[in-house]
Amino acid sequence: MNNETIYNVIGIGIGPFNLGLAALSNPIPELKTLFLDQKDGFDWHPGLMIDHVTLQTPFLCDCVSMADPTNPLSLLNYLKVTGRLYKFFIRENFFIPRKEYNRYCQWVIEQLPQCRFSTQVTDIEYVDGLYLVTTIHTKTKEKTVLKTERLVLGTGTQPHIPSFIPKDDSRIIHTSSYLYRKEELLSKGRKIAIIGSGQSAAEVFYDLLQNRDENTELGWYSRPDRFFPMEYSKLTLELTSPDYVEYFYNRNKEARKTILSKQQSQFKGINYDLINDIYDFIYDLNIDNADPMLKIIPNSQLNRVDNSNLETINLEFTQLEQEVPYEQEADYLILGTGYCYHEPAFLKNIQSRIKRDVDGLFDVNRNYSIDHNNREIYILHAEVHTHSYISTDLGMAAYRNSYIINDILGREHYKIERKIAFQDFDVEKYADLPTANI
Ligand SMILES: Cc1cc2nc3c(=O)[nH]c(=O)nc-3n(C[C@H](O)[C@H](O)[C@H](O)COP(=O)(O)OP(=O)(O)OC[C@H]3O[C@@H](n4cnc5c(N)ncnc54)[C@H](O)[C@@H]3O)c2cc1C
Repeated sequence: MNNETIYNVIGIGIGPFNLGLAALSNPIPELKTLFLDQKDGFDWHPGLMIDHVTLQTPFLCDCVSMADPTNPLSLLNYLKVTGRLYKFFIRENFFIPRKEYNRYCQWVIEQLPQCRFSTQVTDIEYVDGLYLVTTIHTKTKEKTVLKTERLVLGTGTQPHIPSFIPKDDSRIIHTSSYLYRKEELLSKGRKIAIIGSGQSAAEVFYDLLQNRDENTELGWYSRPDRFFPMEYSKLTLELTSPDYVEYFYNRNKEARKTILSKQQSQFKGINYDLINDIYDFIYDLNIDNADPMLKIIPNSQLNRVDNSNLETINLEFTQLEQEVPYEQEADYLILGTGYCYHEPAFLKNIQSRIKRDVDGLFDVNRNYSIDHNNREIYILHAEVHTHSYISTDLGMAAYRNSYIINDILGREHYKIERKIAFQDFDVEKYADLPTANI
């Protein structure tokens, strides 16, 4: 079916980032937008929606507030409309439960008819100055071609599974599908190994720790030399700012790589309170010096997984500081190995319109566009290499969406803060002589 409407913007993927764009473009009559997602509805990381987990970013990271606190699609308005604002006030906690954030996003979608689900984008072509977006309805299989002037790619990241991990073994699970397998793990797993030093690995370890029976042994292995916390001190949080995006973007490629390699603990790592909760829980288990039935081993690189034995999986590690190889057995292996970006296959027929750097990565313009004309194809959440780790942060999503909307409109519809940090990242203004980018 061909649809003759010409959209100004089609957003592909309705995760939190494109949902924010849908919400912020909603009050702008001259923008005709459509947002598409292959899923049947919004459901935020359901495999990790563990009871009592919270967002890692303050509630103001909702779809609209940091761009326009008066927008009716704010989290505060959601709480007001649903009669929960006083409870939220009394709770006195900026970090809302992930379940509540998910419900809030679903409420936003209910008010945005331009968000269309069960619609998978399969191909895009560029014809006569327009992008022709081919979609398949995932249930009816009906094919539709939609026309748009611009695209915003918000297809998110996918679970990362290292290449040496055996495929198609149901005993090996990525944390993203943890809850689908939790019952089985708890009923059948006598030895469960968890790999990873990030928030997801820690959440899964803690959940199993609280719910396992006394015969189940847990092992938690991480490559870094310690289980380090995400850094929340305020001067470090200033790196999550418009000033810092500007500073980072203006470094050259090599300098950016070096900076990113030093920022692991700021954007990776584990929530500080969660580390302490885990410790305290183990402390209780150990009263009377009882065996807590677990192993926690940092500095451990997993090198090989041998799953040829149908009874147990054999894990081969190296303790990196001691340079000592060692082996462990497990009934189940849970991979907290993070997420990575995969370029969507539907870009195949518009590759010639996309700018690349020497490494073949998107050469992302300052305005988040990746096309040669600098104003047609925008990217969300795939520009860490040019715009820093902030690209993954819900708290900066409204900033990026404001930037994109202003760019499309050619005027500052949403006010964009330029300098919010007390510290200076860029010292060029202090230098005696003008200098080149370093
Ligand atoms: C468990 C977890 C908790 C997190 N918590 C926080 C937090 O507290 N604070 C924070 O700042 N960040 C957090 N993050 C990081 C980040 O904010 C989230 O990953 C967020 O979901 C990213 O949003 P997104 O819009 O890029 O993509 P996603 O949420 O991954 O959504 C992408 C969407 O694109 C759709 N799609 C893909 N291909 C197609 C196609 N061909 N056609 C149609 N649709 C398609 C998918 O169906 C999907 O719905 C968390 C990440 C995880 C995994």
